[in-house]
Amino acid sequence: MATLVAFFAHPDDEVLHAGGTLARAAAEGHRVVLVTATDGELGPAPETPLRLDELRAAARELRASRVVHLGYADSGHGRELYPDPPDRARFVRAPVEEAAARLAAVLRDEHTDVLVTHDADGAYGHRDHVRAHEVAVRAAELAGVRRVLAAAVVRTAPIRLLRLTALLWRPGVVLRPDERRTALLRVAFTPRARVTHAIDGRRYAARKQAALAAHGSQVWGTGRSAGAFRALVRMPTALFGRLLGREWFVEL
Ligand SMILES: [Zn+2]
Repeated sequence: MATLVAFFAHPDDEVLHAGGTLARAAAEGHRVVLVTATDGELGPAPETPLRLDELRAAARELRASRVVHLGYADSGHGRELYPDPPDRARFVRAPVEEAAARLAAVLRDEHTDVLVTHDADGAYGHRDHVRAHEVAVRAAELAGVRRVLAAAVVRTAPIRLLRLTALLWRPGVVLRPDERRTALLRVAFTPRARVTHAIDGRRYAARKQAALAAHGSQVWGTGRSAGAFRALVRMPTALFGRLLGREWFVEL
């Protein structure tokens, strides 16, 4: 049996990019460890580590064995970069070598066989995703992990998802049509020919959907993606599986 470490930037990335794969690996007897770079909190000094608790709940749904927070704060996706909270740095302000050393320690400790992470574009250019990719590549080098799989966004899935959500979302509630088009253009799609691993996780759609629901602040909060999250959590599991049951990776 192998040990698979999933390193992503924020709580919820593990579900959105690799939830089916992680649930399937755990169900097939492999050890699955979730590492998040940031706690996903954007405010100046959040009182409770809410999103880390949600990540632990998501890990239980996916049957992951361990959750590790590398200790950084969310850098956000807006133009403005907030000041650092008193006790930790925003992830993009942390030196790559320092973050890579922290991740490499976990990789060694876990005798990691496979590291799963963001792709070089961070799916849609989020600076924490891009940085997580850089940190993952360096940490794999430091810890001698040979197999690194980058989560790919293949053209079919997001387009199907956007079509569906266009039906489910009332216009203007989540994204205005012009914003939706811009968001679509911003996504860096990976051509299918570059995909090295296409994972069918449709049998684990219920676990992936439950893990997504565990990120309650993202689903029921006021964030930009909350409408889409609510639609995904509420839809029949069979439909969820058809939309998000398959995942793609490019081995580096
Ligand atoms: Zn993220």
